[in-house]
Amino acid sequence: MKKLIAFVTSLEEEVNILWLEHLKAVFNNYEIVLFKDLLQNDYERIEVALVANPYVEELLNLKNLKWVQSLWAGVEKLVHDVENSNFNISRMIDKNMSEVMSDSVLAWSFYLYKNMPLYKKQQDQTLWIEHEIKEKSEITITVLGLGELGLASALKLKNNGFNVKAWSRSKKEIEGISTYYGNDTLQELLKQSDILISLLPLSKETKNLLDQKKLKSLKKNASVINFSRASIFDYKALAFLLDEKHLKHAVLDVFSQEPLEKDSFLWKHEDITILPHISAPTNRRTASKIAFWNINEYFVNNKEPLFIDKNKGY
Ligand code: NAP
Repeated sequence: MKKLIAFVTSLEEEVNILWLEHLKAVFNNYEIVLFKDLLQNDYERIEVALVANPYVEELLNLKNLKWVQSLWAGVEKLVHDVENSNFNISRMIDKNMSEVMSDSVLAWSFYLYKNMPLYKKQQDQTLWIEHEIKEKSEITITVLGLGELGLASALKLKNNGFNVKAWSRSKKEIEGISTYYGNDTLQELLKQSDILISLLPLSKETKNLLDQKKLKSLKKNASVINFSRASIFDYKALAFLLDEKHLKHAVLDVFSQEPLEKDSFLWKHEDITILPHISAPTNRRTASKIAFWNINEYFVNNKEPLFIDKNKGY
């Protein structure tokens, strides 16, 4: 009998169909079944589940579940929702996603460095004004988070000539990048930053980390890019500091509620660029292969994938 793998998801029906096509193409010798199509008798046969925005009640029905393979890299909501459960969580680690995220980081860093928001404003007012810009090596970009996505992004920025600083929880050494770790170093680092980029996971420690006080410590005219999670920032404080002209511009890809509510004050802010959570989407083709590799290694070679540390929250 083929091993049964549940696919537990709250995605739209059409998106599930696309996922199932990709998953079934690589999961030979396994039977992938959407939770809603499982029979009650199947529940106890499930040891491993694939998850993408799962309904928690469905996961909790699987009493023999040992671990889940998330199809997403960010598992903050899942970690929070299944806090007291026994199963482990493997998040998606995909070099393709790191490449896509680092491209987004580079693109939006250039958008800020080249003053594109300002030139767009000038065009709207038919204004012909030239602004001098510094050399890239004089622009300090600070990347918060040096994990799968942060490291690739920091390296790409450095290789493109920016002065890169990076911050993590534990000590790191990376050639050509000034690294910092721990809460004590953050304030000082912010003071030196022209562009601040968040690639931190949301956890008890990072929630509201970039509050009004921290954002105010950024250099005058600094800009912010948030590609991680909204609750790491105080967006009201951010908008206030943009209004005050202490900060120059913010590029936001993530929001507490997505899609962002039509009446959110953020849409209308002239110094905020809104993106619909597109900086690094999961690639169905590569992610399906990685999920298969992890699950097959477990069943065939008895090798567990890397699980997130539930205490740390990432
Ligand atoms: P990761 O591999 O888990 O790395 C997290 C990094 O953050 C690590 O370097 C970690 O430090 C650091 N960190 C965590 N807590 C910290 C703290 N309290 N103080 C200082 N540093 C801390 O995560 P990732 O794969 O790079 O992804 C980061 C986040 O990106 C995800 O959690 C998700 O929110 C977001 N994301 C967004 C999109 C999008 O399209 N917008 C797509 C995918 C992911 P250590 O190395 O010392 O542990």
